[in-house]
Amino acid sequence: MKLSGRLGLGLAFLMVLLFVVFYRQLSAQAPLSVQKRLIALKCSAPRSVGKEVSYVMVHYCSDALENPTKPYNVDKIASVFERYGVSAHYLVDREGVVYNLVEESRTAYHAGKGKLPFAPYHENSLNSISIGIELMGIGTREEMKLLNIGSQYDKIAKENIGFTEKQYQSLRLLLNDIQKRHPKVLNDRKHIVGHDEYAPSRRPDPGKLFDWKKIGL
Ligand SMILES: [Zn+2]
Repeated sequence: MKLSGRLGLGLAFLMVLLFVVFYRQLSAQAPLSVQKRLIALKCSAPRSVGKEVSYVMVHYCSDALENPTKPYNVDKIASVFERYGVSAHYLVDREGVVYNLVEESRTAYHAGKGKLPFAPYHENSLNSISIGIELMGIGTREEMKLLNIGSQYDKIAKENIGFTEKQYQSLRLLLNDIQKRHPKVLNDRKHIVGHDEYAPSRRPDPGKLFDWKKIGL
């Protein structure tokens, strides 16, 4: 075989190899999977005209108070929301599946009363300009005491405390998706915030076990 023929063959082989590597990289990242699981409309309200979504608030929730050994049942968590008339737009389960509980066009009741130290002008009014994301998760013992789950803490399995890698991956994909629809949600910690920064005396979530670096923030 001539030198140019070998070169051509080598080049073709290299291109196939590059394609395979590139394709595997692409398929390694699972796409965002969002399932509609809308909850009762009494847990949200139509967004007022002129209220543009500029913030995302990250939370955690579980059913550990009633079911400490099986704290992550979507239907049970949704029914607790409905019982108390609260909500979030999205709920991310331990496998990274995202459930859409409230349409983004509606105001979900997730933030409540509070104030961001760097945006005091939005005191007690963040719901109207934000999207709430609940991760199925459980924080530290101290955090759970604040939520009256302290006495149940020892019944909770270790693997149910904190967050899963799949949740971090889905949360990042979900944030990318939200930012496409709501460009005012800038990719920084002044626009993607925790409930604990807004209402620190009441709410401990997402808390100390949540690693913001895992979503690039
Ligand atoms: Zn919260």
